[in-house]
Amino acid sequence: MAKQSKTAIEPTREQDYAQWYQQVVKAADMAENSPVRGCMVIKPWGYSLWENISRVLDDLFKETGVKNAYFPLFIPLSFLEKEAEHVEGFAKECAVVTHHRLEAGEDGGLVPAGKLAEPLVVRPTSETIIGDSFSKWINSYRDLPVLINQWANVVRWEMRTRIFLRTSEFLWQEGHTAHATAKEAEDRTIMMLNVYAQFAEECLAMPVIVGEKTPSERFPGAVSTYCIEAMMQDKKALQAGTSHFLGQNFAKSSDIKFQTAEKSEEFAWTTSWGVSTRMIGGVIMTHGDDDGIIMPPRVASSHIVLLPMGKKPEDLEKVNAFTEELAAELRKQYYHGRKLIVEVDNRDIGGARGWDWIKKGIPVRVEIGPRDIAEDSVFVARRDKSGKEKASLKRAAFVEGVTDMLDDIQATLLERAKNFRAENTININKKDNFYKFFTPKKADKPEIHGGFAMSHWCESPDCEEQIKTDLKVTIRCIPFDGPEEEGRCINCGKESKKRVVFSKSY
Ligand SMILES: [Zn+2]
Repeated sequence: MAKQSKTAIEPTREQDYAQWYQQVVKAADMAENSPVRGCMVIKPWGYSLWENISRVLDDLFKETGVKNAYFPLFIPLSFLEKEAEHVEGFAKECAVVTHHRLEAGEDGGLVPAGKLAEPLVVRPTSETIIGDSFSKWINSYRDLPVLINQWANVVRWEMRTRIFLRTSEFLWQEGHTAHATAKEAEDRTIMMLNVYAQFAEECLAMPVIVGEKTPSERFPGAVSTYCIEAMMQDKKALQAGTSHFLGQNFAKSSDIKFQTAEKSEEFAWTTSWGVSTRMIGGVIMTHGDDDGIIMPPRVASSHIVLLPMGKKPEDLEKVNAFTEELAAELRKQYYHGRKLIVEVDNRDIGGARGWDWIKKGIPVRVEIGPRDIAEDSVFVARRDKSGKEKASLKRAAFVEGVTDMLDDIQATLLERAKNFRAENTININKKDNFYKFFTPKKADKPEIHGGFAMSHWCESPDCEEQIKTDLKVTIRCIPFDGPEEEGRCINCGKESKKRVVFSKSY
């Protein structure tokens, strides 16, 4: 097999993590940059991963009573102006439509014409336009709660973009709910956060820390923002999902009022919550190795690839028939409620064929040659193990055990990610050590360094800002499960009751 001594992806993670990431996306044929700067073309292998992510999440949302709807791409400028903090937060990254027609220009090109009376903003998020609908739908306490989700694209004009992680246009879901009481809305905020955390761990095999954002990291216009934070293999944090308790802020600006059972009039309490195609970047950076992406079986674009082997035409005929029959049998099986997706690859391209599927991160590869058929067996390799490690299994045993094998791969990936995070999470109490921890040895070309520092913080935004300025390190969240303990702020030394998660991040 070609490239035995080298890795399939160059550079390696250690050599240049950012480049490694780009090359993994390319080698797996998941997505590419579009002619429009900062936007991406998601190719079938990447899109099916997104489809699987959205399908599982969609079911989880619906189990909690949420229903899907769709709202317009365009938001009147005046809507965005209604909530002061909200507009301030998004103003710098809005794409704005000012004209609705094109006319022939003097030089033969096209020029925009038909200026709009009111400019339209391409949604960066939909609180304001959904709020407008809610104000019409909600009149009485009997209309509450309203539990809506939409799957959509949004646009946030980004200057520095990276495929899946930060793009000007991305796909996401945004949930929006309205409630009669603050308590009910807060409960919903946490409920959806827990749905995200459960999904990340169980389906993406991506362990996350669940907690609250500090005021400076809050969603513009929210009362409180909660998040799930995962550790990537370069030891930086990735915010993989957020859930916001919006209080009555948006209800007041969008006039979402209802009559209570006692006939008084009150503003509703609202929430919003979302995850995006960013999760795909999270999967790549949590599990990928120097041979490419490793897809967690629960959301993998496909589960198994069958690779018929053989040179002689009479062998190939038998091998292909055996392969097709095996594929048909496997495709009848269910894995976590979804039929097994089986690829058959009979391209005659030698060793490159196997490596293609390694780079695509398919969980299980099966080689089928004339000798295997003679013994009624197959030759099986798992993506969570080394490329050379293969095992001969009786055909029937393989078919019967394949879903257990997929579950075992899933469990291995989660275990590995948990161990990695544990190895790179430390309690730091002294400022010197903290600065050392987050300072690379090679300043010009920083090596992978840092991790999650669990340190005390006095709750002052100044201390937070100082650390951000000095080290580009931010408080990722105030974790829910952190114990109360006496300590001193890592920056100023003032008393603190709880450790927070500090890290560099995406
Ligand atoms: Zn402090």
